[in-house]
Amino acid sequence: MPDWTIQKLLTWTTQYFIDKKIDSPRLSAELIIASVLSMSRIELYTQFDKPVPKDKLDRLHELVKRASGNEPVAYLIGKTEFYSIELEITNNCLIPRPETELLVERGIDFLRKRSGKQLVCDICTGCGSIAVAIARNFPDADIIATDISDAALKTAERNVEKYGLQHRIKLLCGDLFDPLIPQIDKSGFDLIICNPPYISAGELENLDKNVKDFEPKEALCGGIDGLDIYRRIAKKVDEFLKPGAALMLEVGYSQGQAVKDLLEKTGCFAEIKIEKDFHNNDRVVIAEKLQP
Ligand code: GLN
Repeated sequence: MPDWTIQKLLTWTTQYFIDKKIDSPRLSAELIIASVLSMSRIELYTQFDKPVPKDKLDRLHELVKRASGNEPVAYLIGKTEFYSIELEITNNCLIPRPETELLVERGIDFLRKRSGKQLVCDICTGCGSIAVAIARNFPDADIIATDISDAALKTAERNVEKYGLQHRIKLLCGDLFDPLIPQIDKSGFDLIICNPPYISAGELENLDKNVKDFEPKEALCGGIDGLDIYRRIAKKVDEFLKPGAALMLEVGYSQGQAVKDLLEKTGCFAEIKIEKDFHNNDRVVIAEKLQP
């Protein structure tokens, strides 16, 4: 049998993924092959003619098979990129999405306009994506990140350590604000940021297989109408925000107004804005707390 070179493997795997209707077939092939060969994607192209040894082919075979069963590439290779940062990913956490970068961007913009140390809370941190992205881009932030899933927090812990942020990001396990009470002065945060589970029960059924069958339900489902977590955040958030501080929430593509209404009812915010993402869908709700 002729040698499998990197080039041949790339061509074959890409075509296989096209036939199996896998998203981004070329990129998925590159990511999986690069991971198995412990190379960067660019190295695949500079070493096109290199033969691939049998043990690597066996490993690749296994991953290609799993990918063709719709398992997300990020879980197969154990990593993804978010806000230009490589993060470790396990199937205990949601895979960070490019849309969430808008939330991070707005969080950082807000913090940059303030002076002195900023205390930030990232609720539902998952793999720690938002907390790590803020900490790496805004050195004056100290962050508390909470999640109800201990398994997700183990991944977050490795991401925090990977970037040496242990002294600036404290990870706490518990439901939304629950783990905070004994930790800090209750009215302490300058920014509370959260990408909660917000998929409604009806939408869950119609999600793509790679999401529905592989990503953790508890990181996706926001109850019957998808708004459960927003309601619970709205109920408690006031006592955790400093005057003039901000609450920033990622929302589903059509949830902007409903979340804005929920926050308006609390009566504690001066201004509430809905921002659209690059697909022109509602994506972030930003609320600034009234000054006394
Ligand atoms: N904060 C993480 C993210 O945005 C996880 C969110 C979640 O589990 N709903 O990717």
